[in-house]
Amino acid sequence: MASRLSPLLINLIDPAQAAFVQSRSMVENIYLVPELLKHYGWSRISPRCIMKIDLRKAYNTINWDFVNDVLIASIDRVDLDNIKNSSDLSVEKFPFRYLGLPVVATKLSIAQFHPFLDRVAGYISSWADKLLVAEGSLQAAKSRIEQWIIGGKFSSKAAYEFFRPQKIKLTWPKLVWHGCITPKHAFILWLGLKDRLLTRDKLQGHIEDLICPLCMAADESIDHLFFQCNVGKQVWSQIKNWIGFLRAMTTLKIVVKWMIKEATGTRIQSKAKKIGLACTVYFLWEARNERIFEGKIKHRKTIIRCIQVQVYRIIYNLFPDLIGL
Ligand SMILES: [Zn+2]
Repeated sequence: MASRLSPLLINLIDPAQAAFVQSRSMVENIYLVPELLKHYGWSRISPRCIMKIDLRKAYNTINWDFVNDVLIASIDRVDLDNIKNSSDLSVEKFPFRYLGLPVVATKLSIAQFHPFLDRVAGYISSWADKLLVAEGSLQAAKSRIEQWIIGGKFSSKAAYEFFRPQKIKLTWPKLVWHGCITPKHAFILWLGLKDRLLTRDKLQGHIEDLICPLCMAADESIDHLFFQCNVGKQVWSQIKNWIGFLRAMTTLKIVVKWMIKEATGTRIQSKAKKIGLACTVYFLWEARNERIFEGKIKHRKTIIRCIQVQVYRIIYNLFPDLIGL
């Protein structure tokens, strides 16, 4: 959806928003501010002020009419005091910082550039160190830099790719969002893998009872609920045998890792394993919620049956010609 939306964004987003939009640049904002401030130093103009407001979190709560009024209003001392008293804004003098750069009403002096230049110098020396360490010798570092010159031009993109930290590619999203897994099951599995399911250990300090609602024998956590819990463990052990998954199960991430490694059986077997995993996580989570919020107690045999029925149903939909597994 993001890539389908991206060609339209340029028309949807106000031109004043220069950052984070393709083909626009945040630098435009930096050019704009001195342009607006050009005459602020003059003595024979009406009193005026510039307000630096961080609108990031307030986007939906701002009264834009008020902001517009303020933007076109000319400001005198009384107005300034009123604004000061009714907001958290503080009055500052030039130069102030905007997007990391100093802003003045006149031309910036060389001294005012110094903090900025120091930072740039700091970056360059740390990049130089990194490059030397990575390449091992000055000669190797030089030939690396030559590789960044593409068609006679220095490619900042190539250099950036070298310095930026490489993200470890996660394998589990491929399994979780597999087409054969029902979206609501995938969602719960995904929350589980991201450690976002709100088990009781995560609510410590907000609730008193931390006991696992399924076995009532230990504190509830994701690993407990799905793998250590007497109920969870027994459900898994039956489902594991049933779908032909032989590995020991200790955490969701490990289960998913093995499933990806071993998804080599026939199409049906490998799909049944994925669907079985997602269904088991979903129905255990559902049983736990029903116990907490509705007081319903589901026997583990009932949970197992729910999972098996659901897996059959999904497999049957995917392979309608199938008579029996
Ligand atoms: Zn338990």
